Amino acid sequence: MTSIRLPSEHINCQNFVQGKWIPATGAEEFVISPLTGQTIGLFHHSTSNDVDLAVTRAQEAFPKWKSTPIKERTQIMFKFRELLYERIEEISHLISSENGKTLGESKAGILKGIEVLEFALSIQNLDLGGRMEVSRGVFCEYRRRPLGVVASITPFNFPAMVPMWTIPIAITLGNCYVWKPSEKTPLTSMAIANCLKDAGLPDGVLTVVQGGAETVNALIDNKDVKAVGFVGSTKVAKIVYSRASQNGKRALCLGGAKNHIVLLPDADPAIAGQGIADSFTGCAGQRCMAASVLLAVGNVEAQIQKIKERAEATTLCDKMGAIITAEQVSFLNEAIDKALAEGATLLLDGRNQNPGGDFADGHWIGPTILDNVKPGSFAATVELFGPVMSIVRCQNITEAMAVENDNEYGNACSVFTSNGAMAEMIANMANAGMVGINIGVPVPREPFSFGGVNDSKFGHGDITGLHSLDFWSDVKKITTKWQMQSDANWMS
Ligand code: NAD
Repeated sequence: MTSIRLPSEHINCQNFVQGKWIPATGAEEFVISPLTGQTIGLFHHSTSNDVDLAVTRAQEAFPKWKSTPIKERTQIMFKFRELLYERIEEISHLISSENGKTLGESKAGILKGIEVLEFALSIQNLDLGGRMEVSRGVFCEYRRRPLGVVASITPFNFPAMVPMWTIPIAITLGNCYVWKPSEKTPLTSMAIANCLKDAGLPDGVLTVVQGGAETVNALIDNKDVKAVGFVGSTKVAKIVYSRASQNGKRALCLGGAKNHIVLLPDADPAIAGQGIADSFTGCAGQRCMAASVLLAVGNVEAQIQKIKERAEATTLCDKMGAIITAEQVSFLNEAIDKALAEGATLLLDGRNQNPGGDFADGHWIGPTILDNVKPGSFAATVELFGPVMSIVRCQNITEAMAVENDNEYGNACSVFTSNGAMAEMIANMANAGMVGINIGVPVPREPFSFGGVNDSKFGHGDITGLHSLDFWSDVKKITTKWQMQSDANWMS
């Protein structure tokens, strides 16, 4: 059924401060595997004292790390990459155990994180400074410099990949990085931190504090934290963005999503079937790039049949993972009931599915397709975050794009068609930061940067790629004149 190895004993997950694992002093919380419902570990929440101590230690490490040449910082990141490849199996089992995703998905998440790491390895060769003679004998130059201690708060759905969007870039640029992982998936942070320690990262450059909202607030309020990166739901992204901004900090907060796929009658049924089914069932729909609403334009029955066949064949446990909590399974079941009460019909019903055996007590729901969902209804507008796709029937492209552009989020939108001009038009019209053409999960590859618009992102710029350099660093401008004898000019 699945070859995921759950930890053989409870993992005691601690804070990583100054290169050592130390217990936090707040309330204890258990880590539950969504696959089996069993306790696999525990951690203690970090109090504001725990956070302040951790930030102080990070701040102490900053001057030395800042003055370490970027070539040397990058060498540690090369070693980090090597260790991630060496330990990829072990880390994947840990991710699947605490998050519930399949082993293949866990590995893919690490590999995607390594792709961002590889971009970070190239920062040393990118434009990190420049110098120009702006007037006779007068030179202007800019130098990129780190901010100091920066904080990052991450969600449960990609315990390794999302942190890896920022850890390599922020650290390579010379910052000391304090990471607050999701309290639902804290265990993976131990494996990542150990890789960095074993790669030779100096103590205090990476810090991990475990906890929830109280820990996040203590981090945002700490005067030594210069910037806050956040990835999670829109509700919390707004809270974190406004608190960090009020504290005068730089903040970039990525929120939730409600992604639309525009399906046109000329789309290749095989390509659309696979791309769309995999988009809404991958990671059991718990990803911010998942297809959520299918805007079915005209007669697309052949394509919908293929989507249904592929989704039906996506069996629980081996091909599709579990849902993070039992409460979230109840929420999804209630959302399906609500959609039916609002006039939708069921094309594929995933309710009450369970792989049984050792996994009978896990958190499960099968792929579900709702048809004839009304625009503006609950299922069409609220982020469900599960393997549930709503089909909204549209007469034409104008009607479809009105639904897409009416939605408050703006992470991803895709179109499936064999008409290039139509695809270009829809790509231009879509109200989203990332657009796919015949691709169900249009995550840009580096260095193209990841980031949405509207309620999917608060703050300026993107969190990865070239655009992220300006978030994780400052640019100092220096103007120099050495030739005192040179002709008088406007900068004399
Ligand atoms: P979440 O917002 O519940 O939690 C994210 C982080 O915020 C966690 O570390 C959590 O401990 C912390 N947190 C929770 N409540 C808080 C509060 N009141 N104050 C301060 N911090 C708080 O999100 P989640 O359930 O872990 O993840 C799923 C969500 O993340 C979905 O909405 C998904 O779309 C979104 N997501 C977005 C992206 C993106 O790139 N836009 C990527 C991954 C996930």
